[in-house]
Amino acid sequence: MQLIKSQEELQGFLDDLRSRQATLGFVPTMGALHQGHVSLVQRALQENDACIASIYVNPAQFNDPKDFECYPRQEGSDIHTLAQASCTAVFLPEYSTIYPKGNTASTEVHYEVAQGLEGKHRPGHFSGVVAVVRRFFELIAPDRAYFGLKDYQQYLVIRAMAAELNMGIDIVGCETVRDPDGLAMSSRNQLLREQDRTTALHISATLREVKAAYSKGERKGLAALGRKLLQGCNGLDLEYFEVLDAKSLRPMEHSAEAQKDEVVALVAARVGGIRLIDNMRLC
Ligand code: AMP
Repeated sequence: MQLIKSQEELQGFLDDLRSRQATLGFVPTMGALHQGHVSLVQRALQENDACIASIYVNPAQFNDPKDFECYPRQEGSDIHTLAQASCTAVFLPEYSTIYPKGNTASTEVHYEVAQGLEGKHRPGHFSGVVAVVRRFFELIAPDRAYFGLKDYQQYLVIRAMAAELNMGIDIVGCETVRDPDGLAMSSRNQLLREQDRTTALHISATLREVKAAYSKGERKGLAALGRKLLQGCNGLDLEYFEVLDAKSLRPMEHSAEAQKDEVVALVAARVGGIRLIDNMRLC
């Protein structure tokens, strides 16, 4: 696996691929890699001749400086994980490559799908995400880019950005990988103490319960059911639980185009001070 740190090294890698007319899949990450990230690399390798993953903890998307400081960093073992997954190259850029103008000031993200949920609870978060992914797209210009549906709203925001930029990059959404007990894999899980991890299981359990209620025909009380279950959970601070149209993230009753096969439940909660998100398609 090729280790790429500078823009010059990246250019050499890309020139070589292009001279061979090889297709390239791109997997952006913030490191602390787990099977969820590996599944994106595997999918990229299935659908392209080569895969480049990036590891960059993007300061601009952290609205909470403490969260940025505490975010797990483990470059050595991440490189090993990617090599084991047969990833073609890993890009470890410097701050100055991503932000050549030396600042992280970013513009408002105006996409409708960016307004609620994470957009509301983490002001500035999507500006940072859009800034970094856009820069990566400019630098790498992959054929396809792979994103986890675990960050469902982020996936929709990136799709909106890609459609607007019209760079010819396919945005591919990949299913959430979970631990056997149901917890959605996340780099932040390693910050959870043992008892917090047990508490965190209520998040996926609640999503499954809400999905079961949907399957039995329940429609109106789904978000209330999710909130009730999680608000009654010791050690868990619920930020939001919403049931929305899966394409527009509009409330179901306001969404003319909402189909019964396009409903998603989305949740954010803090457990032991660690912020976790998860979601599930209800059908
Ligand atoms: P992150 O390193 O958290 O920024 O995540 C990098 C990419 O991996 C994003 O597209 C995430 O949505 C995706 N990802 C994170 N966790 C999972 C998971 N459990 N299953 C699938 N994809 C994931």
